[in-house]
This record gives sequence, structure tokens and C-alpha cells, in this order.
Amino acid sequence: LAACSSERETPPAATGGATDAATDAANGGGGLIGIAMPTKALERWNRDGSHLVELLEAAGFETSLQYADNKTDQQISQIENMINDGAKVLVIASIDGTTLGPVLEQAAAKDVKVIAYDRLINETPNVDYYATFDNYKVGQLQGQFIEDALGLKDGKGPFNFEPFAGSPDDNNAKFYFQGAWDILKQYVDSGKLVVPSGKAPATDDAWKNIGILGWGSDDAQSEMENRLNSFYGGDTKVEVVLSPNDSLALGIAQALTGAGYKAGEGWPVLTGQDADQANVLNMLAGKQSMTVWKDTRALGDAVAKMVEEITSGKEVTTNDNETYNNNVKVVPTLLLDPLVVTPDTVEKDLVDSGFYKASDLGL
Ligand code: BGC
Repeated sequence: LAACSSERETPPAATGGATDAATDAANGGGGLIGIAMPTKALERWNRDGSHLVELLEAAGFETSLQYADNKTDQQISQIENMINDGAKVLVIASIDGTTLGPVLEQAAAKDVKVIAYDRLINETPNVDYYATFDNYKVGQLQGQFIEDALGLKDGKGPFNFEPFAGSPDDNNAKFYFQGAWDILKQYVDSGKLVVPSGKAPATDDAWKNIGILGWGSDDAQSEMENRLNSFYGGDTKVEVVLSPNDSLALGIAQALTGAGYKAGEGWPVLTGQDADQANVLNMLAGKQSMTVWKDTRALGDAVAKMVEEITSGKEVTTNDNETYNNNVKVVPTLLLDPLVVTPDTVEKDLVDSGFYKASDLGL
């Protein structure tokens, strides 16, 4: 669904974080903001897109929100159209962060500023800012959760463990895996985490071999089914699965259910990320142990503020100017903090904050 706002003569009263932006838009800001999102298939991107549109329109901007069905060519032509339509700023959650160089040259030629949203855009000088949750920390939180849940620090084990990684073309995926692996590798090395499938990456780059291209639930499900069929059975049960996000965790949970695993009766520790509704329901049903929640509203607020700062010529707020090197330059970054949510904290974190209604979760 493409959302395109109509022109407004006076910006409506904005609330919360959008107030400054509204004032500045009224003082001569405004203009078209292009928002390029990867796919509608994943719940989070729908929330990201609609929240950004809401904030930016409340601040007096026009928006063009486009989803690209996870197809790089489609995303490139959508961005081209936004540039031709006169966008002042592009907010891009890329599909493959290495493919946008040529189209972003067109953006730079027209002095269109570019914010990489959630995922870094690589191999180009023409990306101005990056706003994301701390991706390494997401993985670290997953690794720490596993360490605590199993009592690995206390010497417990061995446990049968299956690691998964995200899409190899997504720059975030390596940070997620690295963050988790920097904690879990020592236990694999010491034999406290045993990987019956043999799919523990031997080198830093080898995580790509267990990456699920495109982050699809179905692909994660088939991969988990293959591992369960080939390496498990009888008394050999999987006890812990590292899943980098919720779409993968959903497929993994399907495979586990299909293989006869039951909640509360030896269901493995299973991680996730995003707090997607289906996964929160799985958490409440005992089929997922945690999710790393990245409040998309906070990211939207931060990016709307960046847009306002850019269009009004203010200094742009960033807080990390060393981590995200896109192979051409270090991109000034605004990092937000992710949060672990467990079945026990769903109500407090996700319902009391208004992210979900109690009724969305059957509470
Ligand atoms: C995002 C995750 C998301 C994944 C799949 C990543 O780049 O940071 O939140 O789960 O893509 O869409």
C-alpha cells in the first residue's frame, strides 16, 4: 500500500516528539519525504512505515511510502521515482544494502539527503545518516539470555544447540550473529553447547552459511525440519535454538511442533527479535522464550526528528560516529537501545506501553 498525503496549508497540531518538527515545518520546512521499506510480509515494516507517515505528516511533510516486496530492482525504481517527484529526504530500509549506489548518486546530484533506516546502506558515499537500534546489542541480548536460561556460567550442560543467522545480504545480520556468538562460542568450544547438525560456523564469516536469505519463516521452518530429521530423534532432543529474529523463530517453532515438541514439556529455549504479534502469542503459549523488542515508535520518532533537523538546516543528532563503516565512509549513526521481553514482561512492556492492546494478545 502506498500512502501519499495530500497537501496541507497548515500543519495540524503535533504531539510528543513531533512538536519541534511541526514548528519547523511551519517555519518553512515541509516538502516531500520518500520512505522506502523492504516488504509488507513482515509485520514490523508495516508498523515502521505507518508510524513514520503519521509523524511526518503531523509535522507538515508530505510522504511517499513504498514497499518493494523484498525485490531490489523494485526498491531501486521506487527510490528513482521519489527523487523525480522532488523528495527532499529519503528514508530507506534497504533490501540489499550494497545495491543502491547508482540510484543514490542520482539523489546526491539533486542534493537529496539520505537516511539509512534500521539497515545500513553500503559501498556508497551518498548515505548521510543511519538510525537504528544497536544491532550488536540485539545479538548480545540473545546470547546472554541463552547463557542465563541454561545456567552456562554455572557450568551446566551439555545442551544440544542449533544456531541460525539472518539474511546474508542484510548488513544487520552479521551484527546480530556476532553479538550472540561472542557470548556463545566459548560454550561451543568447551563442549557445553553441542551442535548435532554441525552447523556452528567455524570462522567469523561462516555465519553466512547458516543465514536464511530473505528472512523467510518458511525457509527457517524447512531448515529446522531438515536438522531435526537428520540429526535428532529417539533420546536426542534439541534444547536450545538461537534465532536472530521473530520471522525465523516462527518457522522454527512450526518445525518443532511438527516434530512433536510440546510447550512446557522439553520445548527448547528459543530466541527472537521484533515482538511480532504471532511471536508474542507464541511466547504466551510457551513456544518462544524471549524476543528482543525494538520499539518502532521510538525509531520513527528519532528519524522524524532527523528529517526535521535536516530540512531546517540544524545539526543532526547522532551518538555513534565510529561503528558503522559502509566500506566507503563511517556513517554518522543514531543508536537506540533494544529491550528483552519475556513471557513475564509482555504485559508490562508491550501492553502498558501501548504497543499492543491487551485484546491483541488475548489478555
Ligand atoms: C531488522 C529486523 C528484522 C529483519 C527481517 C532486520 O534488518 O533489523 O528487525 O527482523 O531485518 O526483516
